[in-house]
Amino acid sequence: MERILVSACLLGRRVRYDGGAKTSDDDLLARWRAEGRLVPFCPEVEGGLPVPRPPAEIEGGAGGAAVLAGEARILTPDGADVTEAFLSGARQALAAARSSGVRVAVLKEGSPSCGSLRIYDGAHRGRTVPGQGVTTALLELNGVRVFGEDSVPDAARYLEGLRGTGDPR
Ligand code: SF4
Repeated sequence: MERILVSACLLGRRVRYDGGAKTSDDDLLARWRAEGRLVPFCPEVEGGLPVPRPPAEIEGGAGGAAVLAGEARILTPDGADVTEAFLSGARQALAAARSSGVRVAVLKEGSPSCGSLRIYDGAHRGRTVPGQGVTTALLELNGVRVFGEDSVPDAARYLEGLRGTGDPR
């Protein structure tokens, strides 16, 4: 049975920058969890950052691909450069996905690690722009399809496609 990488905060783990969780009440996610198919992961904690921690953003809202290419940094509101921890967490997330045979992930929207459709704009003023987090970008570059927590039915349909054809892309 296909396993699914999931942001640990969506499963109730208190790993967010503010020390809290963002527990999802999605029924499909709950079913997959009961079936033992979920691989919980928090890239920022695995990358060595503490809980709580300052809310970091990608410079200029540039997106995870720019960080992977060395073209943008990830900074806290005080200007501390936490890029290496984010990159380490992203690499570990990819390793976890590979070791579990994961081809689909459901990750927390908006995060500089886990966002898939939008991220914060880098100005630390609460505004978002279209873009991906660093872990999402690395996973997708390596063939793992990432969905946000509001798109779990889309993830399920994608999984169905994988079962039907081997690879729908
Ligand atoms: Fe949740 Fe991802 Fe942020 Fe960890 S890095 S707290 S899993 S959104």
